[in-house]
Amino acid sequence: MVVAEHKFLAEKGAELVELRLDWLSGMPKLDQLIQDRPTPVVIALRRQSDRGRWRGSEEQRLTILRSAIVAGVEYIDLEADIAKLIPRYGDTKRIISHHDFEETPDDLEEIHRRLCGLDPDIVKLVTMANAPSDMIRVLRLVKNSTVPTVGFCMGELGVASRVLCGKFGSPFTYATFSEDRELAPGQLSFEQMKEIYHYDDITAGTHVYGVLGDPIAHSMSPRIHNAAFKDKGIDAVYLPFRVAKHALKGTLEDFEWLDIRGYSVTIPHKEEIIGKAEFKDASVDEIGAANTLYRGADGAWCASNTDYDSAMQTIKLGMVDSPNPTDEEIDEVSLAGLRILMLGAGGVARAIGRGSVLAGAALTICSRTHKRTVALAEELGCQQVLWENRGSVFADILINCTPVGMHPNVDETPFKDHWLREEMLVFDTVYNPENTLFLKHAKQRECRVASGVEMFVRQAAMQFERFTDGPAPIEAMRDTVRRAISAVKY
Ligand code: NAP
Repeated sequence: MVVAEHKFLAEKGAELVELRLDWLSGMPKLDQLIQDRPTPVVIALRRQSDRGRWRGSEEQRLTILRSAIVAGVEYIDLEADIAKLIPRYGDTKRIISHHDFEETPDDLEEIHRRLCGLDPDIVKLVTMANAPSDMIRVLRLVKNSTVPTVGFCMGELGVASRVLCGKFGSPFTYATFSEDRELAPGQLSFEQMKEIYHYDDITAGTHVYGVLGDPIAHSMSPRIHNAAFKDKGIDAVYLPFRVAKHALKGTLEDFEWLDIRGYSVTIPHKEEIIGKAEFKDASVDEIGAANTLYRGADGAWCASNTDYDSAMQTIKLGMVDSPNPTDEEIDEVSLAGLRILMLGAGGVARAIGRGSVLAGAALTICSRTHKRTVALAEELGCQQVLWENRGSVFADILINCTPVGMHPNVDETPFKDHWLREEMLVFDTVYNPENTLFLKHAKQRECRVASGVEMFVRQAAMQFERFTDGPAPIEAMRDTVRRAISAVKY
């Protein structure tokens, strides 16, 4: 099994594979594992006290580690407390490691100094991130170390550092065999590291972008933006930054060290992020929320709301008859006087509602919680109806801004199919699945349709244009989103 997995990883392009001997069911048969090995290996054998699975004695463990060195493996991983018990021999390189599964301790530099004194070829220092800023402390240490250091943070707050350590000089990083085989919290799979983050292409000069939010684990933004950078041959990487609501200000200050060029911004930071910007698009003021923070020509932070712009563009696209309209043709579509019925009264409804009112449409909203409907209708200055009466509103455009129909509840729809009218435009902001039951019904009733995927792709493309000041590879981005939607596991 281990031999087969090793071969598989080598075929996929892995250049170095760690063999965790403590994960084997019986006593490791080292010879079998390393003879004819398809790549260089790191041998590691972790005790249970180090969150490993080794059940044998410490004496047996040290014997196996020594015999791996005698057998000439390329790297051996030694915890600090046994480093002096296992002397250097032959060509085997010594990785002196320290893991802290609880925190990124205050005496990080001191620990690193101690590890450097144990005759390492490489120091490995891995700590738990309890705040996004912990990553900065570890990466700073990696960058400044004279001994090659693999350093990053565990946990969801530390995911980005597993990729960024390459930029700051880590000789390599760690990833799991597959997404289902997480050996440490927050680990990325080999495939994610290679196919999404293009780790092998990262250099000291790689520019950094990312998405700020909480939660962030299921965000598709890293996939779509990294694919776009790759398509355009731009030396940049885009990472997920999970940042709690209360931590935004301090994190942004600490992240200055990373010289981040642009952020996508999602819940719960869309309002607070505006305070960071020196310049704002008009739409940010109009709806009081931003989803993009980027560096303008003179380096000043600028805020945009591409969710809003892309939603309005997607509606207009749905109204155009020509098959491949230009952006100018789309912009020319007028919504003035059209009757729009919007389902939902959350953040997306608020943005699209504001856009509809500003475009001169006659907007009616309804949502499950009537109090929320009334509050939003008052804010937008539009009509509202009871949720139960939504089928009786006569509308030219119908927009779903609720999550109804989203994966895994794909058999649900927020609007009965016999309420739909031929020729009306039906827009579903839900993008997973792309072809929701709501849109299937709309097509059967010969309505025009607009999908949440189009909105999602366009908002990302608009962000990309602000990030890079160049055109976005929109087809590649659309393909990436469609592939990601079909592959995502929840
Ligand atoms: P939100 O602030 O949580 O608002 C959700 C709205 O949907 C609320 O009015 C809520 O009503 C209502 N709702 C929730 N579950 C419902 C149900 N089972 N039946 C009827 N109404 C229900 O969320 P949001 O940020 O506005 O996002 C809404 C949807 O937009 C998301 O689910 C997502 O699919 C979509 N979206 C799409 C894109 C894109 O790029 N395509 C981007 C962002 C979001 P209550 O007040 O009663 O809970």
